[in-house]
Amino acid sequence: MMEPSKETEAKMHETYLARLNQEKATLLAELKEINEGNLEMLQSDMSGETAHGEHPADNGNARFERERDLTLENNIKDMLAKVEIAIAKLSSGTYGVCDRCGGAIDPARLKAVSYANLCLACKTAEESKR
Ligand SMILES: [Zn+2]
Repeated sequence: MMEPSKETEAKMHETYLARLNQEKATLLAELKEINEGNLEMLQSDMSGETAHGEHPADNGNARFERERDLTLENNIKDMLAKVEIAIAKLSSGTYGVCDRCGGAIDPARLKAVSYANLCLACKTAEESKR
């Protein structure tokens, strides 16, 4: 009698949902931090001063940092979208199903990446296309 009971499934559902909500909260907090950091930088630009105005290279660094923040911001927004999709999939009962081949995603993979929407084989295939 080792079949997963309804109760276990509900419990798993709960665990995944809690993890995804946690993930979402973390991402939103990171996004907020980046936006606040950008705001500070914009303000120092407007006053004609940089935070550390001693080295000529600082302007380049500031620009680099802003570009890095933008990349980071896009990555976070990307992940947020995936987390949202995973939450939607949880409620529609398709969570853990690969978007590409329709197969089941390895639970170990879901443990590592709670918003995974592709099985490992499909993910590897997608990445090798780039
Ligand atoms: Zn797949």
